[in-house]
Amino acid sequence: MEDTTTVLVIEDNPLNMELVCDILEANDYAVYQACAAQEGIKIAKENNPNLILMDIQLPGMDGLEATQILKEDISTKDIPVVALTAHAMKGDEEKALEAGCSGYITKPIDTREFPSLVKTFINSSAPE
Ligand code: MN
Repeated sequence: MEDTTTVLVIEDNPLNMELVCDILEANDYAVYQACAAQEGIKIAKENNPNLILMDIQLPGMDGLEATQILKEDISTKDIPVVALTAHAMKGDEEKALEAGCSGYITKPIDTREFPSLVKTFINSSAPE
């Protein structure tokens, strides 16, 4: 029985990455990091994380396209993807859901609320 919950964070902003990873690690999640979409997709296929936190605005392939690729791949389609969307980017939330995301968390991250949001997304995807 694997009892370590793993989260893959795909985020190109180093400060956001550090903040998110610090909070996740403080809550006993094992974290994989990727700063670009292609790298994140590769890590997802190799490690089958319990959750993916996907920045929408990434250089090169954006988070929407990366999510669509993950959702079209049999080996990754069941991993919940939660979008990290910039608060100012209205409309990103709808686009994220259309791309296959389970939900979204707006940036800047609310550090007090974040752990419970992550937990909710992981629990809602867990098998019965
Ligand atoms: Mn970004």
